[in-house]
Amino acid sequence: MNFSVLPKIELHCHLDGSLRPKTIIDIAKREGIRLPSIEIDELEKELIAPLECESLDEYLKRFAIPNSVMQSKENLRRITFELFEDAAQENVKYMEVRFAPLLHVAKGLRVEEVIESVIDGMKDAEAKFNIKGNIILSCMRTMSAESAFEVVEKGKEFLGKGVVAIDLCASEEAGFCGQFVEPMALAREYGYHVTIHAGETGVGKNVLEAVELLGAERIGHGVFIKDCTEAYDIVKEKQVVLEMCPTSNVQTKAVNHYNEHPIYQFHQDGIKVTVNTDNRTVSDTTMAKECTIVFNEFSLSEEDYRQIYLTSVEASFADRETKEKLKKYIN
Ligand SMILES: [Zn+2]
Repeated sequence: MNFSVLPKIELHCHLDGSLRPKTIIDIAKREGIRLPSIEIDELEKELIAPLECESLDEYLKRFAIPNSVMQSKENLRRITFELFEDAAQENVKYMEVRFAPLLHVAKGLRVEEVIESVIDGMKDAEAKFNIKGNIILSCMRTMSAESAFEVVEKGKEFLGKGVVAIDLCASEEAGFCGQFVEPMALAREYGYHVTIHAGETGVGKNVLEAVELLGAERIGHGVFIKDCTEAYDIVKEKQVVLEMCPTSNVQTKAVNHYNEHPIYQFHQDGIKVTVNTDNRTVSDTTMAKECTIVFNEFSLSEEDYRQIYLTSVEASFADRETKEKLKKYIN
């Protein structure tokens, strides 16, 4: 199967992990922002996490440079547009992009302006390319519950206008869900969908709590339900969809090698899985690359591709009309 040309759906992609290195250099030069290097090859060494990275925390260090050039409306709009353009070029038909608004207020932007600029960039790309998108607002679990409330409140006016869901991301501690029960309940009340990063770094029980305490409809990664029966059972029983990102999982050492990734076993056992990039730049990948790796590693069939594509469409936070359109691409 040639995944560069097959239609694809992406549900888990971070804006700040997916900047074109060229764009970072361009903005930094114009705005006098200091970079470790303005040579593209050298800069890439700082932006891309190696496969032999040691942990999620080491992986997360790669986000400081991108965020330094994501502090104006113009830049956020451009960067979002370019991400959708890159995805459209490899025939991604629908993509949900997530970002943490509070990381982009360092130079005085208001949270609402940050969100609006990202939506504008997405709309620009939708008008120009054959791709649809939606936005997920991430709350940093390294920040307080109050900061999550702030994102939920300020993002509310954009629901139905490009924003569809709320997420919790960043470094993962055991039992993090307890602290965010209230802001996530408020988000659900307002009509946000909920997807939560959990079970990425060894703690399967976080997935159970994300579903039970936070009402997660989807889980970012979820690799470690493999070691927690209760989490595994609830994901299977409630058909909670896993947004899996194989290369990222090798880099953060959720698994040591692609062949140890549980995606195939999960899929075989009736767990709903999807394939995603996580971060196109930090993980040096594309949807075509992730699909090729998974399908080759586990010898998946064309029927598996259809199933995963349709699972991704159904699990997306797109409206019914968009979902019906997306299904037609593989019929
Ligand atoms: Zn992620």
